[in-house]
Amino acid sequence: MSRYWNARTRNLSPYVPGEQPRDGALVKLNTNENPYPPSPLAAEAARRALEEAGDAAAPEGFPLRLYPDPECRELREAAAARFRVRPEQVFAGNGSDEVLAFAFAAFFDSPPAHLVLFPDITYSFYPVYARLWGVPYREAPLKDDFSVDAADYLVPSGGAVLANPNSPTGRALPARDILAIADFLEHQAGDKKPVVIVDEAYAPFGAESVVPFIDAHPNLLTVHTLSKAWALAGLRVGLAIGNEALIAGLRRVRDSFNSYTLGRLAQAAGAAALSDSAYYDGITARITAERERVSAALTGRGFTVLPSKANFLFIKHPEMTGERFFAALRERGILARRFNTPRVADYLRVTIGDGRSMDAFLNACGETLARR
Ligand SMILES: *Cc1c(COP(=O)(O)O)cnc(C)c1O
Repeated sequence: MSRYWNARTRNLSPYVPGEQPRDGALVKLNTNENPYPPSPLAAEAARRALEEAGDAAAPEGFPLRLYPDPECRELREAAAARFRVRPEQVFAGNGSDEVLAFAFAAFFDSPPAHLVLFPDITYSFYPVYARLWGVPYREAPLKDDFSVDAADYLVPSGGAVLANPNSPTGRALPARDILAIADFLEHQAGDKKPVVIVDEAYAPFGAESVVPFIDAHPNLLTVHTLSKAWALAGLRVGLAIGNEALIAGLRRVRDSFNSYTLGRLAQAAGAAALSDSAYYDGITARITAERERVSAALTGRGFTVLPSKANFLFIKHPEMTGERFFAALRERGILARRFNTPRVADYLRVTIGDGRSMDAFLNACGETLARR
């Protein structure tokens, strides 16, 4: 607390990001970064953006003198081609966290007539944004197997937010369940129609995307990030894909906040990455194959492993607390993520790294079990 803070700042409950250790010796399996490098085309495009004129108005040599394109046209066109939508159906922001923050501000109402719904166990930024914007919300408990009960969302509400696959569980929801929720809320009585936000941060690793259904479901906003499957967490690029009225709402919020959220390097590198599907299909297949290998090995050693469609596993061992398991891994140079919250405090979320990292992780698990 500080006497310089206003009431709004005093009342915030900020998100606590996963540790970003400066100690490079740790095997970092805690924030779901990609173990493989981004497409070489991304770095090449960033270099070009530093050195060449990006457009006719920029004299050769110093494009960074000039503000970037506030509408991120090149990036949105690349995203539109990748996701098979129109550029007008794409919004780009400084990481999907920013896109999500704008979406909460744009589409969720403050009066508590209807509460916004999301699961009790999900991306912990959602309640943070809700509180930031004063959006009343209710957390719908996941079922005992940590799956979403779609019926919880087939009730009058102020909107819904679903990560698919969910984090930290890794479980995915079929597209038809999400579409049923969108359809139900689109037909809710009232002038302000509820919006369904689907956070597809991990969808490339195996969940069914609902992007193909945005034309049929005008209240469906999908959110994407280049931080995970595109291996560009350091670049900060997020996207929203949905009908044009939703995209216009996001632009309205952005232009009431900061018109230039993405720099020239991020726009250029992001566009190049989105255009290199062949490269990303390759590394994504390696990660999902590794996920299945590690999952089977853990199950063989008596771990409980939730079925994952993401680039991480959510696991626990029946004879070890989460606290002990976390500490034992850390002693052996492995950094995982633990959420010290109800129902999941004995679980760890472990990012799928490359084969060597996962061998080190499995060895550390074996040693830990042997010394129990
Ligand atoms: C990582 C993650 C994000 C954040 O992505 P950025 O684009 O890096 O801000 C959003 N949603 C979920 C569920 C995530 O796991």
